[in-house]
Amino acid sequence: MILVRDIRLPLSAGEPQAFEKALHLARIPRSKAAHLGVARLSVDARHGQPKLVYTIAVTLKDEGEESAYAGASPCVAIRGKTDLSVQNGTQRLPHRPVVCGLGPAGLFAALLLARQGYKPIVLERGPALDERVKAVEHFSATGELDPNANIQFGEGGAGTFSDGKLTTRIGDELCGFVTEVFLQHGAPAEIAWKQKPHVGTDLLRGVITSIRREIEALGGEVHFNTALTGFEQKNGRLTGIFTTGGTFPCEALVFAVGHSARDTFGMLMDSGLVLECKPFSVGFRAEHLQSEIEKSLYHEAAGHPALPRGEYQLSQHVGDRCVYTFCMCPGGQVVASASETGHVVTNGMSYHARDGKNANAAVVVSVGAEDFAGDPRRAIAFQRELEAKAYAAGRRGGAYAAPAENVQSFLEGKGQLNIGRVEPTYDRGVVAADLGALLPGELADTLRAGLRAYERKIAGYTAPEAILTGLETRTSSPVRLKREETLESAQLAGLYPCGEGAGYAGGIMSAAVDGLRVARVIIGRYAPAEG
Ligand code: FAD
Repeated sequence: MILVRDIRLPLSAGEPQAFEKALHLARIPRSKAAHLGVARLSVDARHGQPKLVYTIAVTLKDEGEESAYAGASPCVAIRGKTDLSVQNGTQRLPHRPVVCGLGPAGLFAALLLARQGYKPIVLERGPALDERVKAVEHFSATGELDPNANIQFGEGGAGTFSDGKLTTRIGDELCGFVTEVFLQHGAPAEIAWKQKPHVGTDLLRGVITSIRREIEALGGEVHFNTALTGFEQKNGRLTGIFTTGGTFPCEALVFAVGHSARDTFGMLMDSGLVLECKPFSVGFRAEHLQSEIEKSLYHEAAGHPALPRGEYQLSQHVGDRCVYTFCMCPGGQVVASASETGHVVTNGMSYHARDGKNANAAVVVSVGAEDFAGDPRRAIAFQRELEAKAYAAGRRGGAYAAPAENVQSFLEGKGQLNIGRVEPTYDRGVVAADLGALLPGELADTLRAGLRAYERKIAGYTAPEAILTGLETRTSSPVRLKREETLESAQLAGLYPCGEGAGYAGGIMSAAVDGLRVARVIIGRYAPAEG
């Protein structure tokens, strides 16, 4: 694919003009182009009349010719295809490899293993997607939480009820492979060329089940409602695993349990494995009118039909900490994301159309090992304490209602909630509460300083109508399970820590890529088990 950047056009211009200019700049004859698409569109309002700034993606009929256009202009870049060929190792695995967790990390590890003939066994503590969706809808309607089937657990993992953003900063060539697999399994074609691709929870669900079916068709076995509960080892090497569905002999285990598997982390520590404390963040979800965010981002161009839904990412250093926004969902909704009884946790999702009235984003402050004397159990206890406080603060609104207040009220420590144009979207309902009182004072003050700084970046960020709903505690894993350069556990041979829960990813794309990396190592080392 050829990317042609920095195409500046007046607001009155449309895609056809942008396509023409891209072909002209890259010196590509029209007849050679198979497809043109808008990879990125932004507004430059710095110098007088605002301009639309396009990046155009061009696919040639003969993709082999693309490199010939690389030097046509400094605006032209070539994005190549990903070659993922791996040679199977020679040492035969005594038994099939096991993948624990069917989030993006486990899904992509299992897919690659299956494609290379390893017929992996996949364990997932939650149910298959249809059943999981029913459990999530039941929770949303009644407040009855299933600790194994919720927004965090079940087929597809934590990102299933999400915005399905595939953006990442890891810049790994394997991202291209993940995109190709998503496309093969029904994701919208535009993710191939958009610079900030997103699938949306509605479309993502079909993609996930389709990938799982490919794994099964290739001989993989998926055991739903089956949780890993322990290890069997001999001389520092994994020999088997215990699960709620029986024991399995196992010499290669991809451990991809996500950041919310606190009982499983406890099991690891009880079995003598050392987990490290790693940085994570806590805070709340901010909601604004999407149209107000776009006015601030796009200025006079706001409302232009060609422009994508406005997105933002903000960060502000306050002393030794950073206050940043995370997982912004344009036109999305705030979702009840608890996986433990009596805990309230917020997160955000959106549908592919991103056509809701509100924009939401996590506003969080970093915490780290130094806050917990390096003790991962204390870090997890801290998350739990905040979630339980949020539950108690929302309780009078019904089970799993969330505490909320206006941004201005939070800045002034008032605990007031006046609902105006911004209607909170948290599905279990909200109750006015002093969010600052639920957090340690220093963290609340740091978040206040961060929010005040955001007002200088996005006008109206602290407008009286804007709402904060909390608490957001599952931003990333609080622990890391150390691995060697070989991606194997430093403490138990045959155990491959993988994805977000083990501390090696933060998002759908990076978790999927980590799954591929780990699978590649196992494939390169072993030949598939017999039978
Ligand atoms: P997970 O996706 O957490 O998967 C782990 C799986 O392991 C789970 O299915 C769990 O049930 C299973 N499991 C846990 N313990 C056990 C056990 N003992 N035995 C067997 N199975 C077990 N990221 C983005 O990049 N873009 C987004 O738009 C986005 N939106 C999000 C919205 C929400 C509501 C949430 C909750 C997260 C969102 N994220 C988003 C984050 C993203 O989902 C995670 O970074 C990603 O899913 C991590 O992948 P993973 O495979 O490492 O772990």
